[in-house]
Amino acid sequence: MTPFDLHTHHGTGENAVFSRSFGRPYPESVRFSAGLHPWYVSADTLDAAFDWLQEQVVLPHCAGVGEAGLDKICTTDWSLQERAFRHCIEVAMAHQKPLIIHCVRAYEEVLAIKKEWGTQGDVIPWIFHGFNKKPAVAQMLLRAGAYLSFGAALLVPGSPAAQSLAICPPGRYFLETDDRNDVSIAAVYAAAAAILGEVQVGKVI
Ligand SMILES: [Zn+2]
Repeated sequence: MTPFDLHTHHGTGENAVFSRSFGRPYPESVRFSAGLHPWYVSADTLDAAFDWLQEQVVLPHCAGVGEAGLDKICTTDWSLQERAFRHCIEVAMAHQKPLIIHCVRAYEEVLAIKKEWGTQGDVIPWIFHGFNKKPAVAQMLLRAGAYLSFGAALLVPGSPAAQSLAICPPGRYFLETDDRNDVSIAAVYAAAAAILGEVQVGKVI
C-alpha cells in the first residue's frame, strides 16, 4: 500500500489527505482536509468561507481542518488572517478534527493562540505542515505538544527539515508531498527512513 500522505494538492489516493481551500478548485477525493488558507482569505468572502467550512467539516471523508494558519509574508491583512485562523481552530475543536497548519514566520504567534486554549487545546493534534525550519524551532513546537509534517525538503541532504526530523520522537511527525507533483510520497518516506532508520508517523489522523 502507498504510504500515508498527510497533505497533498495532487494526490487523491485512499491513503492521502487532499487539501481543499475555500475559493480554490478541488477534485472530489476520498479523503480531504478543508481550510481557510491565509493566502485566499478576503474580507468580502469571509462569511461565505465560514459557511463553506461548516459544510465541509461534516462530510464523511473530512479528515481534518486546514490548511489554516498565519503567514507573515503574504499580502492578506493580518487581522483578517487571524480571524480566519481562529475560526478554523474553533471548528476543529467543535468537531474534534486535527488542525493542519500553514505557518510562515509566525511560529510564536501560532503557539500563543494555542496557549490560550490551555490543556483543552491538546484534545486535537496541531500539525505544522511543510516544516523546514531548524531543530530549535522544531523543539519549541514539539515541547508545546504540536506535531510536525515534512515533505520534499527531506530530499535535500542536511536541510533544516532533515535535521529537525532527526530529533522528532516516533509518532510526532507526518510525511507529505504538498504541492510537489514531481515527488512521490514513497520518495519522501525513503528519505525519512535514511534519516531515522525506522519511520513511525503519527496515528492521530
Ligand atoms: Zn499545501
